[in-house]
Parts: sequence; structure tokens; C-alpha cells
Amino acid sequence: MAGGGREIIVLAVGEGGDPTVLTLELLGLARGLVSEQGMVTAVVLGSHFEGALDEIASRGADRVIYLEHPSLAPYNPEAWQAVLEPYLEEQGAGLILAGHTCLGQDLLPRLAFSLEAGVVTDCVGIRAGEDGFLFTKPVYGGNALATMRVTTPLTLATVRSRVGEVLPPSSPGGELVPLPADPPAVTRMVVRERRSLEAGECPLEEARVVVSGGRGMGGREGFEMLRELARLLGGTVGASRPPVDSGWAPATCQVGITGKVVAPELYIAVAISGSSQHLSGMCDSGKVVAINKDPEAYIFKVSDYGVVGDWKEVLPAFISRLRELV
Ligand SMILES: Cc1cc2nc3c(=O)[nH]c(=O)nc-3n(C[C@H](O)[C@H](O)[C@H](O)COP(=O)(O)OP(=O)(O)OC[C@H]3O[C@@H](n4cnc5c(N)ncnc54)[C@H](O)[C@@H]3O)c2cc1C
Repeated sequence: MAGGGREIIVLAVGEGGDPTVLTLELLGLARGLVSEQGMVTAVVLGSHFEGALDEIASRGADRVIYLEHPSLAPYNPEAWQAVLEPYLEEQGAGLILAGHTCLGQDLLPRLAFSLEAGVVTDCVGIRAGEDGFLFTKPVYGGNALATMRVTTPLTLATVRSRVGEVLPPSSPGGELVPLPADPPAVTRMVVRERRSLEAGECPLEEARVVVSGGRGMGGREGFEMLRELARLLGGTVGASRPPVDSGWAPATCQVGITGKVVAPELYIAVAISGSSQHLSGMCDSGKVVAINKDPEAYIFKVSDYGVVGDWKEVLPAFISRLRELV
């Protein structure tokens, strides 16, 4: 196998305590791909992640390399690259994995360019082939799947949620090794944070339940009801593009080809017609429930359950029944 079997590195994100579910899924994926003699290394950069290290070490990592530094949190591409590039060059791993998140999509192509390595983004499957790893990713707006093989000795890949499985904790876990590096504060980050998540909500890409609204919501008020539904289901609010363009929902909520790619266990599409651009962002969801007043809406063709009706009548009834149950 072209280099890949010996070491797989997972770029783990553990800001603020717990590791993300996606990070744990990537470790499970890496464990299934690495050869018997090979090792899985997790690299954790950022700040305030002490609690995450043991958990990452117990869920499939042979080694956890970590560096806590103010220049690394919030994510700063120049500082992360300055730390990772020399480390990765020295390691000679065959495969580097990161989540298909904003961070992964920004960082991995940068690293691939500087390490002269191939990169595959948005993977929905990786398997070991005879001549190296085979990467599967959606193409043509999600209407087809392409399988790719990379010919460089090192490959970097961003992977969607729910591709790997979280492994049960094992004891003893992998060893924890600090990374001796001093990231330069190349650029001073002036950060303005806009809260798009409610307390308790998790980022869209990792949510187990997503409640999305479309143009048929008609305004911001409709999204308040979606937020209430998401809260009751322990989920996160998403949107198709028109509500984002109209300012009813923040851009971070957009699901689709030019938005986020999500793969929750349950996706509820409210007043969304089901354009190919939207579907390509949620087609890997477990169960899809559509609420739409048009019985001919395409979204019903890709849904497991459909409710034909006006959301203004369906949602209050649904929410009040849920309140009785939870
Ligand atoms: C380059 C490009 C990139 C794009 N990227 C994306 C993307 O990332 N994500 C994305 O979503 N779109 C994207 N789009 C836009 C996409 O083509 C569609 O226009 C968009 O997805 C439609 O959104 P919608 O389903 O909310 O609206 P519509 O297609 O207008 O559908 C609204 C639906 O609401 C229903 N409805 C109306 N009122 C009610 C009611 N009271 N109760 C119940 N149902 C009701 C209607 O029956 C209808 O089915 C992109 C387009 C382009 C050209």
C-alpha cells in the first residue's frame, strides 16, 4: 500500500474541553484503515483541551501529540501551518485526515500544497485498495459518486460526519506527547464573533438532528419556531439558501452545495422544495422528514416521511406533542 499503512494522522479539534464527535469518528476510521504494524496519531492544537486528550487517547489513537498555545486558538491558518508543516514532513505518514469542516477545508489544501501532496476533500468513504487508499466523494452536485486514488506518497483528506464509527473507550489509552514548537504570531487576528448557535446547540456538521427551513418559512418569525423544535429534539437549525440570502438565518446555517454538508440521524426539511443544490448538502442524512404544502414538491421523493400541509399548522401541533413527551 502506497505509504498509507504505516501511520495515519488525524487532525483532532478539541477546543474547550470535549473532543468533537467527528474527531472520534475519524479515529475510528483511521483505526480500521491502518495496517497491523502501523499507528494512528492524533494531533491536537488549540487551547483549553486538557479534558479532551485522555478521551482522544482512549478512542483509537496510539499517540496524541498536542500543543496548547494562544496563537493557535481561535484557528489561525498561518500559525497552524507553521506548526504542522515541519512536524508532518518529519513524520512521513501516508494519510492525514481532518473533518470536512470550515477548518479542514481551509487547512488541508494549504498543507497539501506546501507538502506537495495530493488532497481529496469531502470524502464519504475511504477504503484500502491494492495500490493505496481509495477515496469516494460526491461529484456533480451530489448526483454521482467518484472513487479516486492518489499517486503521491502522502495524501490528505477531509471527511464528512458519520463516515467513521466512534470506538468504545479502551484502557490504557495511547500515550500523550507534547509537541515542542513555538508557533509564530504571524498575523494579528482581529476577531468578531457572531453567535449563530443557541446554548446547547452543536455545529451543524456534527448535529445528530437538523431542523432546516426554506423560503416557504416566509421570514424570521418562522425560524423562531424551528429553533424551538430543534431545542426540543436536541438538534441544530439549518436553512436552504433563500432564507440566508434574505437575512432570516445566518450564513453559517446554510445547507447545500455552497453551504454546509450535514449527515445527521434525522433531517427535518420544512418548506424546502428539494433543489439538487440543497440535497447535495444533506443527502447522507439518516432519516429525512419533509413538511411542505405542495404534494408535488421534489423533497418528498427523497424523504422517509412526509407531511403535506402548511407549516404554520403542522409545527405548532408537532411542538406541543413533543412538549408533552419530553
Ligand atoms: C450556484 C448555486 C448554488 C446554490 N447553493 C445552494 C445551497 O448551498 N443550498 C441551497 O439550499 N440552495 C442553493 N442554491 C439555490 C437552489 O437552487 C434553490 O433555489 C434553493 O435551494 C431553493 O430553496 P427553497 O427550497 O427554500 O425554496 P423554494 O424552491 O422556493 O421552495 C419553497 C418551498 O416551500 C413550500 N412552502 C411555501 N409555503 C409553505 C408553507 N406555508 N408551508 C409549507 N410549505 C410551504 C413550497 O411549496 C416550496 O416547495 C444554489 C443555487 C445556485 C445557482
